[in-house]
Amino acid sequence: MSNCLFCRIARGEIPCRKVYEDDEIIAFHDINPAASVHFLMIPKAHIVSLQEVDETHGALLGKMLTLAPRLAKEQGLDNGFRTIMNSGVGGGQEVFHLHIHILGGGRLPSMA
Ligand code: 5GP
Ligand code: ZN
Repeated sequence: MSNCLFCRIARGEIPCRKVYEDDEIIAFHDINPAASVHFLMIPKAHIVSLQEVDETHGALLGKMLTLAPRLAKEQGLDNGFRTIMNSGVGGGQEVFHLHIHILGGGRLPSMA
């Protein structure tokens, strides 16, 4: 997806404040943080959202979820963190490349 914003970040065409990178995944700070620590984790492969995943994506999604607590801790979120995945227009998704928000710092307000 040549024009996708997060594909371009994954390819290094748009700069980001990188938190983590391997051959399949990259994590970087959100440009408009909603908490004192707020970063995004994305697969390098273009997947639109959770609405598009199937069983072939299970290992990658599992890897992302198990990486989340490690990166959160490295970013100083010793006391816990929130993960959010907005999926589709109805879910409030704005960038249509699958991503996990990981945020925290202090005590976040209730979601309700
Ligand atoms: P969504 O609403 O799709 O779940 O979240 C997209 C997130 O991407 C938003 O929190 C927004 O601040 C972040 N974002 C949008 N454009 C950029 C960008 O160019 N760089 C970074 N680092 N984050 C971005
Ligand atoms: Zn993409």
